[in-house]
Amino acid sequence: MNTTVETRAFEAEVSQVLHLVTHSLYSHKEIFLRELISNASDACDKLRFAALSDAALSADDADLHIAIEFDKEARTLTIRDNGIGMTREEVVENIGTIARSGTRKFLESLSGDARKDTQLIGQFGVGFYSAFIVADKVVLSTRKAGAPADAGVRWESTGSGAYTLEAIGDAPRGSAVTLHLKAEESEFLDGWKLRDLVKRYSDHVAFPIRMREEGEDKDAAKTETINHASALWTRPKAELKDEDYQAFYKSLSHDFNEALAWSHNRVEGAQSYTSLLYVPEKPPFDAVFSGRDERRGLKLYIRRVFIMDASEQLLPGWLRFVRGVVDSDDLPLNVSREILQENRLVAQIRSACVKRVLDLLDKLAKDEPAKFAQFTAAFGNVLKEGIAEDGANRERIAKLLRFASTHGEGADRNVSLEDYVGRMQAGQEVIWYITADSHAAAKNSPQIESLKARGIEVLLLSDRIDEWMIGYLQEFSGKKLRNAAKGDFTTPAIDEQARKQAEAEAAPVLDKLRKALGDAVGGVQVGQRLTDSAACIVLGEYDMAPHMQRLLREAGHEVPASKPLLEVNPQHVLVQRIAAESDGARSIDLAHLLLEEAQLAAGDQLTDPAAFVARVNRIAFGA
Ligand code: ADP
Ligand code: MG
Repeated sequence: MNTTVETRAFEAEVSQVLHLVTHSLYSHKEIFLRELISNASDACDKLRFAALSDAALSADDADLHIAIEFDKEARTLTIRDNGIGMTREEVVENIGTIARSGTRKFLESLSGDARKDTQLIGQFGVGFYSAFIVADKVVLSTRKAGAPADAGVRWESTGSGAYTLEAIGDAPRGSAVTLHLKAEESEFLDGWKLRDLVKRYSDHVAFPIRMREEGEDKDAAKTETINHASALWTRPKAELKDEDYQAFYKSLSHDFNEALAWSHNRVEGAQSYTSLLYVPEKPPFDAVFSGRDERRGLKLYIRRVFIMDASEQLLPGWLRFVRGVVDSDDLPLNVSREILQENRLVAQIRSACVKRVLDLLDKLAKDEPAKFAQFTAAFGNVLKEGIAEDGANRERIAKLLRFASTHGEGADRNVSLEDYVGRMQAGQEVIWYITADSHAAAKNSPQIESLKARGIEVLLLSDRIDEWMIGYLQEFSGKKLRNAAKGDFTTPAIDEQARKQAEAEAAPVLDKLRKALGDAVGGVQVGQRLTDSAACIVLGEYDMAPHMQRLLREAGHEVPASKPLLEVNPQHVLVQRIAAESDGARSIDLAHLLLEEAQLAAGDQLTDPAAFVARVNRIAFGA
């Protein structure tokens, strides 16, 4: 056995994370215990899973558990498990390098603003490094299950820059993390304090957490189990209090915040399983930033054995914010991701989970509007993806969406499609909406002027996803949805006679504009959209909104340029000025200005900004 001590430097980024974690998490310092217990529990889960295919791995000591030991004289606190353990390479890989995806993501998202970064840290499973919040030296002794008795390794660090590695000959299976507590952290050498923390943060860890009984001397190895040590979801609902659910949520998600709502169900029948699904209060880090490929948070158990994080298999992408547990009685224990992907039982569980979450959200919307508003703010845009992706649940999802509207308050998204339909005017047949890249731009769109003037409600959509999403939502409750900026715009309240007459009267100025604008437009028309503005852009039924076209172009996509259709308001002084203008060159300038103003108001980009500036200067300054 090689007994030399090897010293290695942490990767620079690890040092950086370590520093941040230990300094900014001080206000939550007791989380170190939850994190280390969570790692110990993960290690027991992993061993139990590995032992399914190789029983010898755990045969020598089958009683999987976690032990907490403290020594007042030595000022040490040890969290020990007899789980899977680590090889030397794994220690280096898992503890000393940046390989862990969470660490890298975390660093990538650092803003440099200490206050913001502290909040960000709170959304991580900061895990192992949190030991350094309370300890000035941490020693990890570990031996991998199945490895020979002399294959242990001891890792030691003061958390500043470097760590040492050393082979040890007497390590039991599993890991022991020993914290040499800082002088001011004596409270963690107190049995009652530790018991209290375990109750609070780790009661629902499914393995027993054992501690020596108070007053017993060290040699009389009398221990007691200090946590509930049963899988919470297996307990009857009636036995569980809100606090129990919240505590389990926190240990499951590593979230500092509470869960907003949850749904706990046992299904017995053709197949039997239990699901416990949580909706968080705020977006956890990974749901927002890491997209879909690395979704975590919905754990699959089979007959109480943890199998894998299976959020992707058990939930559609548009519910990726959901956290929780599914425990199946019927799936085979040797299930793989590939099998999960096409398993019929899994497909049933998946659609039942979708239904449970939708039921839960319905109930929240109905009974707890304040919480539902919180949900909308946090996850409303993720939910919108479901409109496009889940045709079967489209109507149900649509019911849960909330929008800003001309009848709503400010920019708050608090109007449902049901609210809208419930107050549609007599004779109104469609649900009107407009999309833009900000709430102000939507609200002040010239295209909705006449609707506003007549008190017809318009939904104001200004989230990026809206333009794409709404394309999939053609109908709600039997009413068509219509974009006020697209296609034909007729509302029954206006009489056809008056319209024909206005068009006839406007014919000369339309002609003049068509000639002046030539190729720059696809057409010039009189319409019913405008009351206050002189002109606006009208899109074809299938055209993409100008602000979306711009975004896509900026992202490097080819977007076929369609020629704008200009709708004018013949009553407007500007249009009347153009009609009356006798100077040919000035007429052309004024006509182009009218078009360019309409394009700007629609969030479009001018094709020739310099020409626009020159035009404004000619008209305004005669220059
Ligand atoms: P996370 O648990 O989110 O992966 P941690 O910092 O808590 O992050 O732990 C890092 C990694 O170190 C774990 O993923 C695991 O591979 C390893 N590890 C930590 N503690 C233990 C332990 N007690 N037994 C086995 N492996 C461990
Ligand atoms: Mg961890």
